[in-house]
Amino acid sequence: MNDLERKILGDVSLDVPWALVEDYAKMPRWRPEDVNGGVDHLVGVLGRLGVPVTVHEPEIYLSIPLHAAVTVGNQSFRAKPPSMSISVPQGVEAELIHLPTNPKNIRSYTRNPAEIFLDAGADLPSRVKGRIVIMGGFANPGTCSLLEEWGAVGVIAVNPGIDIHWGTCTTIWGSPDLDDLPRKPKIAVVAVNNPDGKQLIEHAGAGKKGRIVTEMQEGWFKQKVPVVDVPGAADKEKFVFLHGHLDSWDVGVGDNATGDATMLEIARVLWKHRASLKRSVRIAWWPGHSTGRYAGSTWYADAFADDFDANCVAQIDCDSPGCRWATSYHQTTTMTETEAHVMRAIKDVSGVDGKAKRPNQAGDYSFNNIGISSYFMLSSTMPDELRAEKGYYAVSGCGGNIAWHTENDTLEIADKGTLMTDIKIYLLSTLRNANDDVLPYDWRATAKEFAGTIATYQKAAGGAFDLTPAKDALDKLATALDRFYAGIAAGTVSKPAANEAQMRLGRVLVPINFTREPRFRHDPAFTCPPLPTLAAAAEVPGLPEATRGFGKTQAMRGQNRFVAAMREAQRIVAQAMA
Ligand SMILES: [Zn+2]
Repeated sequence: MNDLERKILGDVSLDVPWALVEDYAKMPRWRPEDVNGGVDHLVGVLGRLGVPVTVHEPEIYLSIPLHAAVTVGNQSFRAKPPSMSISVPQGVEAELIHLPTNPKNIRSYTRNPAEIFLDAGADLPSRVKGRIVIMGGFANPGTCSLLEEWGAVGVIAVNPGIDIHWGTCTTIWGSPDLDDLPRKPKIAVVAVNNPDGKQLIEHAGAGKKGRIVTEMQEGWFKQKVPVVDVPGAADKEKFVFLHGHLDSWDVGVGDNATGDATMLEIARVLWKHRASLKRSVRIAWWPGHSTGRYAGSTWYADAFADDFDANCVAQIDCDSPGCRWATSYHQTTTMTETEAHVMRAIKDVSGVDGKAKRPNQAGDYSFNNIGISSYFMLSSTMPDELRAEKGYYAVSGCGGNIAWHTENDTLEIADKGTLMTDIKIYLLSTLRNANDDVLPYDWRATAKEFAGTIATYQKAAGGAFDLTPAKDALDKLATALDRFYAGIAAGTVSKPAANEAQMRLGRVLVPINFTREPRFRHDPAFTCPPLPTLAAAAEVPGLPEATRGFGKTQAMRGQNRFVAAMREAQRIVAQAMA
């Protein structure tokens, strides 16, 4: 850490952020009017601190769960509908069928039946048609969309524990547009707890009928989006983007009042020290994360797309920091080019070595299609040994506390010590991202990641598809990148040119590694494999003879997109060295 970093981090205090955590612990923030109330409260705090804030008021599309139940005969079970289930107050009744699910994949966003179900026989679609499916885990969008496609009329997700978790079941990212609408869920989905789920599985075994009732409030809602802009003193146009969701399930302390508090304290401290910032730092708090599948961040990405394309150097997602027992950083989400930067901030603040994880197609990563280098979302988490010792199942937030997405995510889930550490980690990485003369990214590491991905796909494809053109194009880029970084070190590549090139590389290399849809659209919310356009090559040998030709056609088109992207990236690097 340099002197300035030490001085700025030394100004971090828990007074303001912990007060917000305590206030939000008493304020449910999932109904649209309560989310706006939470924003008003935050805006009041920022005002008292003298930090200017802009409040946007877009209309975004939300689905708020009001009520759900499952009945079999005259027996009734408690249930919660995930956001975006259809509303069937009159109920839907059908024969129950139990599909045992792979316990390792209950959190996953995959749509691959072989990964989801223990018995993924070819007759699965005909078995579920017209029935209500009981499955293990969470009502994930990938699974629900698959079951809907197969003709299931309802889904009951049996959560792993005693509590019922809220969630969402749509694959549509943000407010739907006309092209997205066909993917809007058309079936009733609910979650039940484990003991009730076991009884329901018995009823399914006995061939009984079940009934699902759901009541949802769905439509366009005016939601407030507060944004703080801390202007950089030197390169004001360019900005580092720090953001996280303000809406939560119930009072959502660990997910995400602690994140809101982290961003509040960073806004306060950076505003105070704005004269020492090179680039600008922009901080946003979202509505519509839980009930709109990231509709707040998606709206912002759409509304300011041109600004992001021209000026955003990084997006940093702040979700579930500062939670009880979360002293490990072994599952820190980061894109490969920012990995070293992120790990250095974690080590410098906490003394702990972190471990990077590829970001899921989830959280408020609504900027992948524009092509923004990204890190965090989840940061600190419980050590695996502690999780095992407590008998906790895996969840997607709250630092691994299973209070995640339940009524139990209350004040005790937040931890002052962890919050202090996490605020400093977020602050230090944001500060360096704004102040480093040369953006702290290593695109050589990304190229290396790509090489590994291509090798894996080629091995799986065997002789069925040749990825040599992709490999050759990547090799050329890797060589150019070696010269580029050598040029930066030697001073033959100017710093402004190096920074512009690094930002432009993001616009090409992030979409090619994380998206299938074009830029300025949004990919669906299920797993996107690395270098998705090349992934088809790996599947060719496994395809039935009759469809192999289609698979090869897809792989050929995907390879074309990849090769063109590598050439574009090479041009960007060449221009910087000219
Ligand atoms: Zn969250």
